Amino acid sequence: MDTRLDKKQTIERWGIRFTGIVQGVGFRPLVSMWAHQLGISGFVYNDSSGVYVEAQSDIDTLQLFVDTIQEEQPRLCRITHVSITKIDPSVNDDDKEFVIAQSPVDGTVNTFISADTSPCDDCLAEMKESGRRYDYPFINCTNCGPRYSIIKSMPYDRERTTMSDFTMCEACHEEYVDVNGRRYHAEPNACEQCGPSYQLLDKNGNLCIVDDCFETAIEMISNGAIIALKGIGGYHLVCDATNDKAVQTLRERKHRKDKPFAIMAGSIDIVEDFAVVSDGDLDALSAMARPIVLLEKNDNFHASISELVAPNNHLIGVMLPYAPIHHVLVPHDAKWVMTSGNASGDSVIYDDEKAFLELQTIADYFLTHNRQIYAPVDDSIVSVVDDTPILIRRSRGYIPEPIHCESITDLPILAMGSDLKNTFASNKKQEVLLGPHIGDLASESTHNTFEWTIERYERLFDVKPKAIVMDKHPSFFSSNYGRQLSKTLNLPAIEVQHHHSHIAAVMAEYDLKYPVLGICFDGTGYGDDDTIWGGEFMLCYGAEYMRVAHIHVAPLPGGEKAVKEPWRQALWYLRNYYGEELPNIYKKWLTTLPKGWQILDKALQSDMSMMMTSSAGRLFDVIGCLLGLGNEHSFDAQIAIALESACANEEGRLLDFNYDGQVLDLVPAVQQIMDGYSQGESVSSLAASF
Ligand SMILES: [Zn+2]
Ligand SMILES: [Zn+2]
Ligand SMILES: [Zn+2]
Repeated sequence: MDTRLDKKQTIERWGIRFTGIVQGVGFRPLVSMWAHQLGISGFVYNDSSGVYVEAQSDIDTLQLFVDTIQEEQPRLCRITHVSITKIDPSVNDDDKEFVIAQSPVDGTVNTFISADTSPCDDCLAEMKESGRRYDYPFINCTNCGPRYSIIKSMPYDRERTTMSDFTMCEACHEEYVDVNGRRYHAEPNACEQCGPSYQLLDKNGNLCIVDDCFETAIEMISNGAIIALKGIGGYHLVCDATNDKAVQTLRERKHRKDKPFAIMAGSIDIVEDFAVVSDGDLDALSAMARPIVLLEKNDNFHASISELVAPNNHLIGVMLPYAPIHHVLVPHDAKWVMTSGNASGDSVIYDDEKAFLELQTIADYFLTHNRQIYAPVDDSIVSVVDDTPILIRRSRGYIPEPIHCESITDLPILAMGSDLKNTFASNKKQEVLLGPHIGDLASESTHNTFEWTIERYERLFDVKPKAIVMDKHPSFFSSNYGRQLSKTLNLPAIEVQHHHSHIAAVMAEYDLKYPVLGICFDGTGYGDDDTIWGGEFMLCYGAEYMRVAHIHVAPLPGGEKAVKEPWRQALWYLRNYYGEELPNIYKKWLTTLPKGWQILDKALQSDMSMMMTSSAGRLFDVIGCLLGLGNEHSFDAQIAIALESACANEEGRLLDFNYDGQVLDLVPAVQQIMDGYSQGESVSSLAASF
């Protein structure tokens, strides 16, 4: 038998389409390298849908080629879909090579971009070698570096990023066109000769003439100064976390009474000095996204870090260096406060002019650079539960990478999110694009960031929504903006109940197509019956839901005010149970209340109409309050966090409750807590019981 002929018969040509995050991540060179190694002919190019390959060889080799590419994906690559079509093999002798071809130009954009990521090992090693990138704080390659924060428009090319202000030197350009190097089409490629650079300025914007601005900044921080540091997605305020005075000054200047600050530790060994680090925590801390990870303080915490960093909190938010600048600046043994440069609840400041305007009264010095941050992006926050990382805030390092949700509609939707800790979402078919953490929509600056970022997503990912989804709340900024958009664009407005949307989001993420009993224990959300919901048991199926049960309703004296001041609701529980005859400990508690509490006390005895709520979050606040852990919030969830911290290692006991098939009545439990506290039972045991 003629084997030559046999082999010839099996020659095929495949058109292979890769979608996902496949551009700007070193994907074409990888394809080209494997094609050459396997003796495959054809071509590869980027287009608006991702990467397209035509490959010609025998079937086994082609299959090996496709498998290998998927196994050997570059660091930042996320292939979401591969499709293969058979086409007629080329008989042209000129087609024996494999080449990287020009991208065809067409209008639509169907590809995604990767998040801003920490430097890869190769870049970290290069930073320690003498040369153009020794300690260079803007080092990057196709496997790492800034993306989301610098891209102005698509397709992703240097001219459409904020790196367009810098012209590559000859050496950088050679790397940029070298198909075998890790900087082939690395759009932000730069070195100290041609790229951006840092400067140290005083708070009035005057240049500090020093030999080494990094050494000087380190010295200033160790002497107690507060530095505004421009990084990847915005400004941070930095000071020494071991220095009480520096932390206190930062709190005073930032008007941030006791909301915890996050820490950047110079290395993982240092984290173990002051926090308990499980294997899961370690993975989360060193993940490519480098989020802030919430860790349990250890017994040594107080000896190691200022108590003012995270008072009344058993947790401490910690991150490891994530930008090249951190690897240059943050010493191995550093424990630095690194908190977003903004007013509490606002979006992170990223514009240089605004930074000087607003941070001038807080920072002593500015360590800033001359590359524009096009889009702000705040640090992400992760909590590891049973070795599984749970994202509490999905922002830098994660966005704008899509989340694949198999069961959602093909139609592009824009969902506005809520007003507190806003995150909006839109979709391109089954790929959901979540917005960054915008902050609380309570100031003009967050409103602007919100509107600008939505508009940017539409432009960047070419999403044209066919419907707008918003929270039912009548006065949320996000809801009203959505209603207005739907009118302007003449699109249907779909109003969703707050807690139903929490459960529906989980159903979409986990592709739950069957009926689900969702339990949503939340703060407050607008209910269907004009009360405020937040302790909900919902039977959900597809887009439908039924509220099958909920936590008992209790008045929220003063409405919104009672959210910030849980003592108001606590007073109602006390009067409702004890009437005039409060136990001594609560008589004493009355003296800790803000001035004018008697007015509310009197009103509670009248038939004043009050907002009613079934919120679980409010109940946690009330219990914390009744256990003497605080009467007012200076930041969101402060008292609930104090309550959790108070549990320590106590087991607690089972408390009473009633359930009639519709209402989970926890009032008996609240009463037991009040009785226990007034009879001298320990706060930690009562906190744990609840
Ligand atoms: Zn790199
Ligand atoms: Zn250069
Ligand atoms: Zn909520």
